[in-house]
Amino acid sequence: MIARSLCQAGAVRGDILHNAYGYGMFTGGLGLHYGGELLGVAVLPMSGGNTKRQIMMAQDFGSTLLSCTPSYALRLAEVAEEMEIDIASLPLRSGIFGAEPWTEEMRTEIEQRLGLKAYNIYGLSEVIGPGVSNECEYQNGSHINDDHFIPEVIDPDTGEVLPDGQEGELVFTCITKECLPLIRYRTSDICSITHEVCECGRTTPRMSLVTGRTDDMLIIRGINVFPSQIEAVLLGFEEVEPHYLIEVDREGTLDRLSVQVEISPRFFTDRVGGLEDLRKRIGDELESVLGLSLEVTLMEPKSIARSEGKAKRVIDNRELN
Ligand SMILES: [Zn+2]
Repeated sequence: MIARSLCQAGAVRGDILHNAYGYGMFTGGLGLHYGGELLGVAVLPMSGGNTKRQIMMAQDFGSTLLSCTPSYALRLAEVAEEMEIDIASLPLRSGIFGAEPWTEEMRTEIEQRLGLKAYNIYGLSEVIGPGVSNECEYQNGSHINDDHFIPEVIDPDTGEVLPDGQEGELVFTCITKECLPLIRYRTSDICSITHEVCECGRTTPRMSLVTGRTDDMLIIRGINVFPSQIEAVLLGFEEVEPHYLIEVDREGTLDRLSVQVEISPRFFTDRVGGLEDLRKRIGDELESVLGLSLEVTLMEPKSIARSEGKAKRVIDNRELN
């Protein structure tokens, strides 16, 4: 199924796959590795970390495909810029990104900075690992391999099955899996599905990008907040980088939401007036999108910890019993 995913992302025999998903017990690394080999692709087993060396290897081997988390793709772009290497000029053509929720805005950013086409791959260890679904060249939903998995979207509160196009919790029933049967397994991932035939001609159901998880949804003063909503707003400001940290505290009975946002080195200035104006604009935009007030702190370039795997973007200090 991963070989199928790679094909949908434009991979062909003879490609060179730079696989920066973690190797080990995480299913991403070895999953992409074996899927690539099955397809006849040369796989570079990079795993995560050692980012400068990754860029040198991508240059030396002329990697044509990249697989990693979306946040690590941006980290690669950032380190390449520091090394004064134009990563967009490398032969990289397709990126197969997944293992954390991401947004269309982030896709645009990755495609521009790395000079490749960014495809979503979806999977979860409990079901099979990566390759449950993948986008095709039209990037309009990930094709679910429904010869193996029956998808449904349900209302997470009532369990009621929702119609196509409506967002809810994704549920899978595995029809070919052995040893560990899963029937109507709740993934906690939030998305919608469609059964319309895709422009590419494939007839499999397609799922939208996962916008969050039922369990990373923050409830702040009764309002549901997904980190992906905050990310989408931040990516609309060219003055800041898509590196951020959300923190939730409770003062008495009141929840307080704060967001640390990193300023882009290109716009970093010591002028307090300029920064204050930017901080206010970001705060106003977040407030209008989320429907609640929050505190924005601007951080110096490169001061927020980078991830080499799944990004940790929420610190919830509330003690809820
Ligand atoms: Zn398609």
